[in-house]
Amino acid sequence: MREIDITRGIVENHVKSLEKAYESDVVIVGGGPSGLVAGGYLAKKGYNITILEKRLAPGGGIWGGGMGYKFVIIQDEAKGVLDDFNIPSTPYKDSYHVVDSITFASGLIFEATKRGVNIFNLTVCEDLLVRDGRVVGVVVNNSLTQLNQLPVDPITFEAKAVVDATGHDHDVVRVFSRKNDVTLNTPTGKPMGERSMFAETAEKAVVTNTKEVYPGLFVCGMSTAAVYGGFRMGPIFGGMLLSGKKLAGLLEDACKR
Ligand SMILES: Cc1cc2nc3c(=O)[nH]c(=O)nc-3n(C[C@H](O)[C@H](O)[C@H](O)COP(=O)(O)OP(=O)(O)OC[C@H]3O[C@@H](n4cnc5c(N)ncnc54)[C@H](O)[C@@H]3O)c2cc1C
Repeated sequence: MREIDITRGIVENHVKSLEKAYESDVVIVGGGPSGLVAGGYLAKKGYNITILEKRLAPGGGIWGGGMGYKFVIIQDEAKGVLDDFNIPSTPYKDSYHVVDSITFASGLIFEATKRGVNIFNLTVCEDLLVRDGRVVGVVVNNSLTQLNQLPVDPITFEAKAVVDATGHDHDVVRVFSRKNDVTLNTPTGKPMGERSMFAETAEKAVVTNTKEVYPGLFVCGMSTAAVYGGFRMGPIFGGMLLSGKKLAGLLEDACKR
């Protein structure tokens, strides 16, 4: 056994993954439930999907369940997505399903990567590439560089479409709107800010507001609430799954344009 072979195996394969990401069909920023579902559906159809996740583990807000109690609730309407990703659940009351949050997070990650989604963890999207009024890629850096505020320049990936799946942070849309004199596809033309908890309204709005917010830039999941002024919903996750599924359809159309 030679340590240098282990090193080569890691570096060579990481470089292959980077090469695949240079010209992605879609770059999804944020490895939470909505991003993983969208990526998983698209990768199954053969699209080249890159997910950037700034933390060590993808899965976003799934892992913590509700206040650290490790179960989440899915409503009936989204049960089909659980099934599509082979995630076991138990019926609860008339119209809900209970899912172990650890099974849920790891199941989505496993299924998405099995289908070919190229996930980079510890990788943060800090800016976008914009050409002629259209988002055409992302500017990325190592999360530890950003965390330690080191003066290290980022690199870039091109994509036919970019997605803000960063949850409450709406990091991509927020930075894009702050840095550029742009009018977003929102009632105010700017990100509108998230509102207090109202689960039923919020769950519907997350799906309705999954859309193209600027040419080439899409929003899904919890970031739709921050961008379109929606309510938050707590640890019910069906809206996130349905948002990811709807987004996959929108992105397929965008990739064909
Ligand atoms: C760490 C965390 C813990 C949470 N805990 C709970 C909880 O216990 N109960 C609850 O009801 N809700 C919780 N939430 C709320 C959660 O937002 C939603 O319930 C749901 O997970 C939203 O799904 P999503 O697909 O929109 O993305 P999220 O699950 O919010 O995931 C977004 C992902 O994007 C990543 N990200 C953000 N900015 C960048 C960037 N610039 N570059 C790369 N990656 C980025 C984040 O690290 C995160 O993994 C939590 C959210 C987070 C992020």
